[in-house]
Amino acid sequence: MTSLVDDHNFSHTETGEFPCISCHTNCCKEYVIFVNAHDIHRLSVGLGLAPENFLEIYGANDYSLGIKVKEGLIDLALKQKNGGCEFLEETKDVFRCTVNDFKPGVCKSYPFEMKNGKLSQMISMMCPVDWDLVEFEKMMVSHLKKDESEWKFYDELVKEWNAKYGTKPLSAFLKFLLDKVESSLTL
Ligand code: SF4
Ligand code: SF4
Repeated sequence: MTSLVDDHNFSHTETGEFPCISCHTNCCKEYVIFVNAHDIHRLSVGLGLAPENFLEIYGANDYSLGIKVKEGLIDLALKQKNGGCEFLEETKDVFRCTVNDFKPGVCKSYPFEMKNGKLSQMISMMCPVDWDLVEFEKMMVSHLKKDESEWKFYDELVKEWNAKYGTKPLSAFLKFLLDKVESSLTL
């Protein structure tokens, strides 16, 4: 789920090859990509598709917030195919994200996070690369802050939905979500 897959201007290996290429984007195959309201809105507008076309429903874990809809207590993630994200495309053994311009925030962040106010690389078995934090600092710090505020927005949105409309169907939740993002963008 890397943002780095198609951004070939940054960190490279000694052979000049971008690390994500030789890794074959394992992160896009191994993780389920849970998405927030802004992710869903960007993908829906970018693809020109209703969210139902690219979202998969997961039962919410008891430790996550969970969306209450007629269908149950759920979370939303990107659909998968062939054991990976459905937006991952393989051409001649090269993998690329087909929604690079509007991929989810979590994809743009990986494998970085903020720890004690500093940019860090996630401790992850998945990413084998030792990324240059200095090289990525400017771009990633601003992205991670934006991503954090979008997840807070989503948490509030889900809380409001659950309190007011929790018995309505998922289709109504998705309309509510898109309307909320639209209104926030016009403020
Ligand atoms: S949206 Fe793109 S970057 Fe994110 S998991 Fe799917 S293929 Fe990977
Ligand atoms: S696991 Fe790391 S190196 Fe591999 S594709 Fe993802 S970000 Fe790139």
